[in-house]
Amino acid sequence: MTLYRPAQAIINLAALKHNLQQVRKLAPSSKVMAVIKANGYGHGIQRAANALSACDAYGVASIDEAITLRQAGFLHRIVLLEGLFSEAEVIQALNHRLDIAVHAFHQLDWLMSLDASQHISIWLKFDTGMHRLGFYPEDSDAIAERLSQLKCSTQIHLMSHFSSADTDEAFTMKQFNRLLEIDKRFQAPKSIANSAGIQRFPQTHMNWVRPGIMLYGASAGVEGSDETVNLKPAMVLKSKVMNLKWVDAGETVGYGNTWQAEQKTLLAVVAVGYGDGYPRHAPAGTPVWICGRKVPLAGRVSMDMITVDVTEIADQIRMGDEAILWGEGVTVDEVAEKCGTIGYELLCQVTPRVPRIEI
Ligand code: PLP
Repeated sequence: MTLYRPAQAIINLAALKHNLQQVRKLAPSSKVMAVIKANGYGHGIQRAANALSACDAYGVASIDEAITLRQAGFLHRIVLLEGLFSEAEVIQALNHRLDIAVHAFHQLDWLMSLDASQHISIWLKFDTGMHRLGFYPEDSDAIAERLSQLKCSTQIHLMSHFSSADTDEAFTMKQFNRLLEIDKRFQAPKSIANSAGIQRFPQTHMNWVRPGIMLYGASAGVEGSDETVNLKPAMVLKSKVMNLKWVDAGETVGYGNTWQAEQKTLLAVVAVGYGDGYPRHAPAGTPVWICGRKVPLAGRVSMDMITVDVTEIADQIRMGDEAILWGEGVTVDEVAEKCGTIGYELLCQVTPRVPRIEI
């Protein structure tokens, strides 16, 4: 962590708590599994876990993340959303009281060695259309047979994952109905709704909802939802103006000389770059918030710097002024859209050298 470089990610704990309350309002009858994988979507896994401790469980991607939480003293239910990657992890999961997603028969085989004194909580993951992880509905009888052969005691949940709840109602309903069909065989608590499902399809909330991106106050891509669901951005990525310089009309700026000044232009050099996770492919015109105005990026993003056309605020801007990349004035989703990606990616890729400052 650097102490003197001004690039910082301000993490607003109250915003995380507020966003969890919004999930509770939308899904009042469901338990909430807060998805805090990928270092809490870039916000810091322990920080996110702390702020979201009013949830009913945490969802993580690996046993390493889960152990980090246990070692920090979190006693909540923790679900390994992708299950175990190797048989060696079975004992770790037991020792740390972790719930495991089981998405394939080889993972069920790994549980055969457990004895009658042991207990494991299993989230059977079904493929209802995403075609990434999960059993097929037709596997249900074979799964039930294998489960009956386990010597250990088990608690069973069913889960699946929406592929396009933000955009495709018909497909989402097909996935939801497939999970209901599977449940006729298992009759267990169920979970399928991610942020988009939570916002758009209340009928899919079931026993457990699994919000990720909405907890961090970014868009799940549901049209109209950003206005109706009251979320607060949990991360402000900001830095400072480290240099100001005029360039003449016709001069080019930055690597590759890709941007050319059409007129005499004032450039602000801001201390943030792809080494901090600001996307290198952000095109000219991507907005940056300086002096209470959106001003456009000019030239390529460098590792440690960006250049911004601040001609229109030449009278106001000063060396050392704050420049906000997203989270205030400009949303992470606006920047993401300019870059052809999603807010999720930008939040996750803020690099470790950027200090996370809690407020
Ligand atoms: N559930 C699972 C299994 C996931 O992998 C994820 C995230 O990718 C989520 C829930 C949360 O999704 P979202 O961030 O879109 O709410």
